[in-house]
Amino acid sequence: MVPWNDSKDSKAWLGDALLAANVAAVQARIVAAAHRAERDPREVCLIAVTKTHPVAWVQHVVAAGVTHCGENRVQEAEAKITALRGQAHAPQWHLIGHLQRNKARRAAMLFDYIHSLDSVALAHALNRARAEQPDMPPLPVLLQVNVSGEASKSGFILYGGTASPQLPDFHAAVAAISRLPHLTVQGLMTIAPYSPDPEQARPIFRQVRLLREHLREAFPQLEWAQLSMGMSDDFEVAIAEGATMVRVGRAIFGERG
Ligand SMILES: *Cc1c(COP(=O)(O)O)cnc(C)c1O
Repeated sequence: MVPWNDSKDSKAWLGDALLAANVAAVQARIVAAAHRAERDPREVCLIAVTKTHPVAWVQHVVAAGVTHCGENRVQEAEAKITALRGQAHAPQWHLIGHLQRNKARRAAMLFDYIHSLDSVALAHALNRARAEQPDMPPLPVLLQVNVSGEASKSGFILYGGTASPQLPDFHAAVAAISRLPHLTVQGLMTIAPYSPDPEQARPIFRQVRLLREHLREAFPQLEWAQLSMGMSDDFEVAIAEGATMVRVGRAIFGERG
């Protein structure tokens, strides 16, 4: 990453060349991490997390080769998605933040992926919304799981992963979601607790990978191809543990706000 200037003016001087260099640096780190893990780098999708940043910055990273963008909030995302729609290289949009049920309809119209599906009720709301759009294919969703026990994180509660006493409840939820025809379950998403040492996240990522293996056997009719895990501080560890989607904000755009 190009050295960061923390001054208040940084947004003004941050140019597209700097953003392009940061995108290239993150992509090179993804390739190197995949090779170290003896994985094909094409298995790992970079999602540039554009929350809080202006449309112009999204356009710069798209011009630099980013094809997937992530946002936390429906309303903020809508302006950016609308602005880029119809452009030659419009990215795919991923909702990665907690979704309130009353915004499910809007989200189902706007996003290509929902990473933050965290309840059966929300799944029903998304399914209903997508059913009203006969031209749209089933909505790809990831089930967000909280295996770490950190209370501030949303997601299905599964402390300890496959060893969790909540596993039967989760099975019931997956079974219910699997019956919704306008959603397609693609895999799991998790957020590791923050730590200055990225290695602290490894056991969390591993638990989610093992949970995915378990679900593959329990629900072979579902896809389970995707593991969305890893952010700026820990995406290389996540790739070593099998991540197929990494959600990277600060390593591309610098600190927020
Ligand atoms: C903001 C956010 C990210 C990106 O975090 P960085 O530390 O900026 O890379 C990834 N995932 C989720 C769910 C987020 O909210």
